[in-house]
Amino acid sequence: MAIKAIRGTRDLLPPDTALWNFVEAAARDVFREYNFQEIRTPIFESTELFSRSVGEETDIVSKEMYTWEDRGRAASDHGQSITLRPENTAGVVRAYIENQMFNRPGVQKLFYMGPQFRRERPQKGRYRQFYQIGAEAIGPPAAGSESPARDAEVLEMLATLLDRLGIQNWTLELNSVGCANDRETFNNALRAALKDVVGNMCDDCKRRAETNPLRVFDCKVPADQPIIETLPKISQYLDQPCRDHFAAVQQILTAVGVPFTLNERLVRGLDYYTRTAFEFTHGALGAQNAILGGGRYDGLSEAIGGPKAPGIGFAIGEDRLVLALMESESAGAIVKPPDAYIAPLGDGMNGHAAKLARELRRHYLVIELGDESFRLKKSLETASKLAARYCIILGENEAKSDNFAVKNLATGEQVTIPRADLPQKLQSK
Ligand code: AMP
Repeated sequence: MAIKAIRGTRDLLPPDTALWNFVEAAARDVFREYNFQEIRTPIFESTELFSRSVGEETDIVSKEMYTWEDRGRAASDHGQSITLRPENTAGVVRAYIENQMFNRPGVQKLFYMGPQFRRERPQKGRYRQFYQIGAEAIGPPAAGSESPARDAEVLEMLATLLDRLGIQNWTLELNSVGCANDRETFNNALRAALKDVVGNMCDDCKRRAETNPLRVFDCKVPADQPIIETLPKISQYLDQPCRDHFAAVQQILTAVGVPFTLNERLVRGLDYYTRTAFEFTHGALGAQNAILGGGRYDGLSEAIGGPKAPGIGFAIGEDRLVLALMESESAGAIVKPPDAYIAPLGDGMNGHAAKLARELRRHYLVIELGDESFRLKKSLETASKLAARYCIILGENEAKSDNFAVKNLATGEQVTIPRADLPQKLQSK
């Protein structure tokens, strides 16, 4: 039996890969303009990194991680618990601490792109190996890392990226999930409110009501939703500094003209978030409509043994961004067919064709090569199927005279062009 890809994983094939490259190139451009630089962290990390940062009671850590015990021979790695990264923020913050990036000047502005792994139920827009493009702005408080200006800059950058990709109809949903102080009073209020109703809720909610009540909001069981609606909202429990911070973020966003809506239910499924939490959604994506998510994580560095290093970041679901792009009008223009197909006619012409292709490619033209064994009819058909703009016919006469018959495959019009003029003629549309 033929071997198949593992459930929840998939091959990304051409021509779709052109859309992936387009998204990544646009993201790199935008990151450069906002002075973010790339970081690449390992694809697997110690399991403890995720349990201590993302949180034991989250769906990710409690149900979805690909974890195994290493069986290396050296005592140092034998039996170590290792996990394929389910997200990249924890790895970036670990790298920030381990490489003492807090000694570098200012706020560190870092971006990454790459695969992440979660054992979720696969469906359209949800995979077990999926891809994120993300960024983090993290640094010592003295560098201004706590400022609402950082939150607003990151959000405005995301709006710029989506606009530049031609993705319309996005919505920015914004909330504040408060700080450690607020969390304690809020958790107490939640526990009190849950006491009378949790008996009617699912097993996860029952457990979380005790261990980590905020995570009750991640519950997706339909029967629990009306109960969750009645629970207190975190916005009512923010202390004054958190309220001021959130108001300042909103004020800057309004000043720069980035529209947003407030969503008091938005808590994001990761424990490390503090204060600003956000999601961008997109109408065309159906059930999995969150195109990206993020927030502030002022205590994350300390939670994994580092110095105080407040930060804010996000992760774009690249799979979903590409799906949204496919729905947009600009998608068709992204895949670039060959500029020309060279049709060598007759024995001994492959060498001439290769030489001409080499010359034209040095002018950054996209050239596809035929074969001397093909009849002209077959060459023209192949060139048309590849959607090449032109077919250059290269027989013995052409090789001798250095004048080529060039057929425009859209119009059928054929002209003779001297070798020296070919690059320029092929470049002009
Ligand atoms: P999170 O890391 O959970 O904050 O998710 C950030 C973004 O990653 C989401 O908004 C999704 O766009 C994307 N994402 C998360 N999980 C998956 C998945 N299993 N498959 C595809 N995209 C995902």
